[in-house]
Amino acid sequence: MSEFSSLGLSDWLIKQCKQLGISKPTPVQENCMPAILQGRDCMGCAKTGSGKTAAFVLPVLQKLSEDPYGIFCLVLTPTRELAYQIAEQFRVLGKPLGLRDCIVVGGMDMVAQALELSNQPHVVVATPGRLADHIRGSKTFSLSRIQFLILDEADRLLEQGCTDFTKDLEVILGVLPAKRQTLLFSATLTDTLQELKNIAMNKPFFWESKSETRTVEELDQRYILTPEKVKDAYLVHLIQTFTDEHHDWSIIIFTNTCKNCQILTMMLREFNFPTISLHSMMKQKQRFANLAKFKASVYKILIATDVAARGLDIPTVQVVINHNTPGLPKTYIHRVGRTARAGRNGVSITLVTQYDIHLVHSIEEQIQTKLKEYPVVEKEVHKILTQVNVTRRECEIKLESTDFDEKKEINKRKQMILEGKASYFLAEYIHVSNKAVIV
Ligand code: AMP
Repeated sequence: MSEFSSLGLSDWLIKQCKQLGISKPTPVQENCMPAILQGRDCMGCAKTGSGKTAAFVLPVLQKLSEDPYGIFCLVLTPTRELAYQIAEQFRVLGKPLGLRDCIVVGGMDMVAQALELSNQPHVVVATPGRLADHIRGSKTFSLSRIQFLILDEADRLLEQGCTDFTKDLEVILGVLPAKRQTLLFSATLTDTLQELKNIAMNKPFFWESKSETRTVEELDQRYILTPEKVKDAYLVHLIQTFTDEHHDWSIIIFTNTCKNCQILTMMLREFNFPTISLHSMMKQKQRFANLAKFKASVYKILIATDVAARGLDIPTVQVVINHNTPGLPKTYIHRVGRTARAGRNGVSITLVTQYDIHLVHSIEEQIQTKLKEYPVVEKEVHKILTQVNVTRRECEIKLESTDFDEKKEINKRKQMILEGKASYFLAEYIHVSNKAVIV
């Protein structure tokens, strides 16, 4: 493995890395950084937790130090939490430069963001929707001189999943200079390769981690075959076992819907497990606060939807539990990538019902690894089955008595209006409902 100095990185950055315990480049850094420093476009495809963020942050900071101005670099990423995480790496590594960054994400004060943008920060880290809103509505800042465009989790930004970023990306790309360096990173780039190559126009340097598997060797990948109605009892049993056996542990549990996320959180709290949730029906401030409490180990268990599946870097996470088997192998790869990061060990346990077996097969095919069965003493699970199911039902009833579903409906309608799919009357309805229900 080479040294940072042989990759062309300046002394001040090497010193800065050392202070953070980063002494030798990881493969994605070793391979991509020289190309970026030479001024080439770059596409980097490496496993989650392998140091992709520093692979672009370090060369950008080096170039910025040679010719500092704002706005120098734009980073786009699919989730708000990731935007904060990336900005933090810029801030910490770029401290000697007096780096000024600006985070532009939905759910936060738009006026404050506009003010920060107009102050010409060196680096803007944004989610596409909110940045496109600023571009459409404001003439107080310009992205026309940026040197770097970075798409983090680039494939997610381009695929048309539940949040479709393509229209917003069009708006953003429309105001960027053609002459720029474009850097694209993800753990799962290959599916959208062609589209990505169109964005990085200048014959991008392409690097893909050589390993045959798409998940890291340090990750112990397990499954438990369970009927749907016994799932929660397995979950409670697993958490109880981990609690009994480990002091310094934390767990992320992924589930498929916001509502399920909320119910599971309530249920695990009834069992006195220190649990907190993260999903898109929560206010953004609450999302950040919950994530911060989980990172600080105030709460040891985070229950999340796929909003937390990509990129989040929390070293203490030793266990990822998939409460539902992900429908896409790609989602599985990103979810389990929340543990076994930067060379540490970790375990992932996927709860599989009889209807999910084909999903497991396609996951195994993609990751080139067979999931192993996780041993469980079934007698122990059956002992708590009734208690768990009754508690879950109680939590469902409690949630039904709140306005959770109503809020969801309002959010859906708001989205339709923003996309121009709903009428003025719906806008009025929301106006009234907002007053009556949300405020
Ligand atoms: P990322 O894949 O960018 O989310 O990074 C995962 C973790 O690896 C982060 O906590 C980084 O601080 C850490 N990291 C990045 N580069 C290195 C390196 N060269 N050596 C050790 N740790 C690193």
